[in-house]
Amino acid sequence: MNHHSAWPVVMSVAGYDPSAGAGVAADLKTFAAHNCYGVAAITALTVQNSQGVASVHPVELPVLKETILSLLADGRVCAIKVGMLANQAAAEVLDEILTAHPELPAVLDPVICSSTGVALLDAAGVDYLRQRLLPRAALVTPNLSEAARLVEMPVENVDHMRAAARKLVELGARAAVVTGGHLEKPVDVFFDGTNLEQFVGDRIRPDNTHGTGCTFSAAVAANLALGRQVRDAVVLAKAYVVEAIRNAFPVGPGRLPLNHLYRMMQPARLSDHSPVVAESTP
Ligand code: PLP
Repeated sequence: MNHHSAWPVVMSVAGYDPSAGAGVAADLKTFAAHNCYGVAAITALTVQNSQGVASVHPVELPVLKETILSLLADGRVCAIKVGMLANQAAAEVLDEILTAHPELPAVLDPVICSSTGVALLDAAGVDYLRQRLLPRAALVTPNLSEAARLVEMPVENVDHMRAAARKLVELGARAAVVTGGHLEKPVDVFFDGTNLEQFVGDRIRPDNTHGTGCTFSAAVAANLALGRQVRDAVVLAKAYVVEAIRNAFPVGPGRLPLNHLYRMMQPARLSDHSPVVAESTP
């Protein structure tokens, strides 16, 4: 058996969310759920739990660059997912890497701000991403507010999303999917330069989820690594995210992380969840 083709290697370049709902931890779980081997270069550490992001700590630039280069030097990476970059300097590193590797499909999740309102990319980084990284992307996957920032127009309904998807391709992305998970009737709008399509879904509960964008873009990257076309990769990634949301469970009092590994979950036994109380020494 050819292990390379059976287990394609997918690389995530993203932030670290220690609560494992978003960022590289979510990406690695998503890759595993797709029978891919995940590797990751961390752009920034964040301090966060289910209740939100407390602070962001960019990784030193040479460490980021050397990590990506050493992973690529192993020669097995089939696709790249780019998530949170934190600042322009990290975006410049990605521009250099993606320019040197045009053969690697890159899924660009233009992470700008957390749902709780914390900046995850500086303003110069947003401009740089628009100008330099969009033209390197096989697919860009903004939500409504990210799309609005990138195309500099309001993106609040399906007509706006259609215009935004076209504009993102005009700006250089090979394809774009604007995700509308927050709309009353959730719709994703996909444009590949030729066909404009709407993928409609039912609103699924729970809807206070964390890491949906990260998970969706990682699932697309995994499907591309498995050899699927961009449109099919998007359709399959959406179906995966819907099931991961449907199977979500709380890990704290705040928002629910997706259940990335729902396909592997065994029924939980009550005894597994009894809190372990440390014995106190007098
Ligand atoms: N933390 C990291 C590292 C992220 O990459 C993201 C989003 O991409 C977030 C936090 C925010 O995720 P959410 O808005 O789903 O809470």
